[in-house]
Amino acid sequence: MCLSVPAAIAQGPGAPPQASSQFPIASDVRVAGDARQTRFVLDLDRKVELRAFTLADPYRVVVDLPQVTFQLRDGAGDTKRGLIKAFRYGLVMAGGSRLVFDLSGPAKIEKAHVVDAANGQPARLVLELGAVDRTTFVQQLSAESRPQLRPAISPVTPVETTAATPAALNANAATGGAKPDNRPVIVIDPGHGGIDHGTEAASGELEKTLVLDFAKGLRDRIEKSGKYRVVMTRSDDTFVPLGERVKIARNQTAALFVSIHADALPRGDSSAQGATIYTLSERASDAEAERLAELENKADAIAGYNLTEEPTDVADILIELTQRETKTFSNRFARMLMSEMRGVARMHKHPLKSAGFKVLKAPDVPSVLLELGYVSNKDDLRLLVSESWRSRTVGSVAQAVEAFLGKRVVNATGN
Ligand SMILES: [Zn+2]
Repeated sequence: MCLSVPAAIAQGPGAPPQASSQFPIASDVRVAGDARQTRFVLDLDRKVELRAFTLADPYRVVVDLPQVTFQLRDGAGDTKRGLIKAFRYGLVMAGGSRLVFDLSGPAKIEKAHVVDAANGQPARLVLELGAVDRTTFVQQLSAESRPQLRPAISPVTPVETTAATPAALNANAATGGAKPDNRPVIVIDPGHGGIDHGTEAASGELEKTLVLDFAKGLRDRIEKSGKYRVVMTRSDDTFVPLGERVKIARNQTAALFVSIHADALPRGDSSAQGATIYTLSERASDAEAERLAELENKADAIAGYNLTEEPTDVADILIELTQRETKTFSNRFARMLMSEMRGVARMHKHPLKSAGFKVLKAPDVPSVLLELGYVSNKDDLRLLVSESWRSRTVGSVAQAVEAFLGKRVVNATGN
C-alpha cells in the first residue's frame, strides 16, 4: 500500500489565513444522526447570536446569524444525512449571514444554540432536528414564524445609482434649485447573490459572480453616454429577493429592466450553447424555457424565503392595458437585443423565448432576462470568463438599449 501523501492534502484544504477576522469565522461542519434525529454542528471562532425557524413547501430550516466568514471545505453543503438533504450558507444582507437546510421531511427544531468554547473545543453552533408529522410541523410553523413571515432582513435599497441626489428621487421637492434628474432609468439586475450562487461550472465558476462582473461592465458602458441613469439591484455579493428586484424597477419608474443570468444544463448534457433572451409570458414558449423559469423562480426558496408571501395580483383593466403595452415594449427590446448581440456573441439556436419569470413581472416596466450562455458548456464558459467577449457583448447590449430608448423618445415626441 502506498502511504505517500500528496502535498496539497498534507497542507490541508484550508483557505489561506484571513488577514483580518472582523467577522466570526466558521471553519468546520459535522452532521450526525439518522432520519429520526439529526444533529448539525458548526465550529466558530467565537460565540454569535442566532435565530432559527422552519419553512414549509419545501420543508426547510433557516438559521440567521450575524455576518460570518465561511471557510468550509468545498462541497460541505452537499452533506446528506438523516433529516438534512443539503444545506447552503452565505450572506443574505450586509451584516447578516444565513444557513438554509433542505429537509427530507417535516421536522422540529429541538435545539438551536451556540455553546462556548471549552475543553479545547471551539465555540459551536448546534442544531438538533427531530422528525415530526406534517400536522405538528404546520402547527409549529404558525407558532414560531408568525411575527416574522418575512425574515429579519432589512429592506433592500437600490445599491448604486449614477446620480443619487435627493432631487433625483423626489423631483417635486424644491431643494435649493437642484435640477431633477429626468434621464431615463435603466435597472440592471445581476441574478442571484450571497447565499444563492445560481448555476456552477464544473471548474467552480459561479453564476452570481459572472453575471455581476458583466452587469458592472454594462453599467459603466451605458453610463458613459451620460444620457441614462443606471440603477443596480445589487452591486456586491448580496442576496436580493425576486420581489425586491421588481420593486426597485417599479420605484425607479424604470424605462427598462435587464436581468442578467447564466444557465446550466444537468450533468452530461452539454449540448446547448449560446445566449438566450427571455420575456414574460403566462405559458412557456417551450419545455426548455419552462425548466429555466422554474429554476430561476426558486431563488427565494434557496435563500430561505417564505413562498406564501406572494404579491396579490390586482385585477384591473388599467393594469391589464399597461401590461399589454409593456409586453409589446419588452418584445421589441428583446428583438433589438437579439439583432445587436447576434453580430458579436454566440446565440442559442432559438434565441428568443418566453416563460413565467417572477423577476420580469413589473406591469409597467419593459423587462427582459438575458441568459448569457451555459456554464455547463465548455465553449460558452470560455467566453463567459473572457474579458474581450464581455467587452464586445456589453457593447452590443448598450447599443440595443440606445436603439430602444432612442426610438421611444422619438415616438413620444412625434418626430
Ligand atoms: Zn440564474
